[in-house]
Amino acid sequence: MTDDPFARWNLTPVINASGTMTGIGASRVPDEVRAAVERILASFVDMDELQSRAGAVIARATGAEAGCVASCSAAAMTQTVAACLTGANLTRIEALPAVTGERRVLLPMGHMVNFGAPVDQAIRLAGAEVVPVGTAAACETWHLASALAEGAAAAMYVVSHHTVRENELPMDVFIELCREHDVPVIVDMASEYDLTGPVALGASAAIYSGHKFLSGVTSGVVAGTSDLIRATYLQHRGIGRTMKAGKESVVGAMAALEMWEKRDHAAARRAEEARVALWMHELADVPGVSLALHPDWTGNPITRVRITVAPESAGFHAWALAERLAARTPRIVVRDDLIERQEIYLDPCNVTDEEAAAVAAAIREEAERFRVSGDGCRASWSDTKRAREAAILSWSGKRDAS
Ligand SMILES: *Cc1c(COP(=O)(O)O)cnc(C)c1O
Repeated sequence: MTDDPFARWNLTPVINASGTMTGIGASRVPDEVRAAVERILASFVDMDELQSRAGAVIARATGAEAGCVASCSAAAMTQTVAACLTGANLTRIEALPAVTGERRVLLPMGHMVNFGAPVDQAIRLAGAEVVPVGTAAACETWHLASALAEGAAAAMYVVSHHTVRENELPMDVFIELCREHDVPVIVDMASEYDLTGPVALGASAAIYSGHKFLSGVTSGVVAGTSDLIRATYLQHRGIGRTMKAGKESVVGAMAALEMWEKRDHAAARRAEEARVALWMHELADVPGVSLALHPDWTGNPITRVRITVAPESAGFHAWALAERLAARTPRIVVRDDLIERQEIYLDPCNVTDEEAAAVAAAIREEAERFRVSGDGCRASWSDTKRAREAAILSWSGKRDAS
């Protein structure tokens, strides 16, 4: 029997030109991290000791007092909120989601987004009440001050391309106001490269996905004040049990953090820029398509290629192209956050040079096929959106599913 899972279980290979997306397996885990995980998988280890060693690694990497590892960022959000509700009180930890005392958790309304699941649900799971602050596209100091004046167990701040960015409270102002009221701030940095910023600004906890840019095993890295981290780790005796981080997650996150500290970031950046240059060159003459370099929305050191489609001259809509690319073998996944604006983004971080060339060739080929067939503008965005939603519900785990 082959040990290639793609052959063994009839899986479709994926070329990832979209970034670090949980839905397609997050990231490629490097050999060094896999070796550390493989070694611990064959052994027993005291989990309290392992997690306290992880805390030391996290504290060093982030500048925080302490750290621990959760099963993912979503779990870390729930458990840090839980920690703010219970402290290190084991009876309260076992009682969750029933809460004694203050259970309000403030969240700017523009941060109430969906990262694959809703942010507010990750908070509510702990037993907290989510209090939205401000309006959908504006959060002012007076909104936060009034909410704080009514009391809060914690406040959550989300850094992500998903959030509203215009007219939002800057993180430093948000943290400062919360600290004036002794309200701990949890910062969701799941997909951000800056390991030290929120902690330096005085956040009580900052959360990073171990499996995104860090390229570790699925895990959530939590950095913060030692009291809050202890209360977060102790949640494994309560609701944290349902989102347990095993030894492989903890070691995977530790090894990935250490690799990140040693990594030649400038060399990695140059390799990514070379792939971007290849796309800019190879796609320059596709009719009806314009290209631009697009710096990352939240300031991560990533430049992507933005493809803007003019359907009349291209002969296709951006969404039709994305659907065709996703239907190929290997499946090609592009970044489609703004696809209804006729925009596709290509991300250079998770493709090899060969895959980058294959992506360019596939786009040229599909564009040409649309020109010949004339069917690239048939489906409206509304049709496509409905079809995508229907596809979510068509998932099947039956015997004949493939
Ligand atoms: C990916 C992401 C999450 C969830 O991270 P997981 O580790 O996959 O649970 C939460 N918040 C933001 C902003 C994200 O980008």
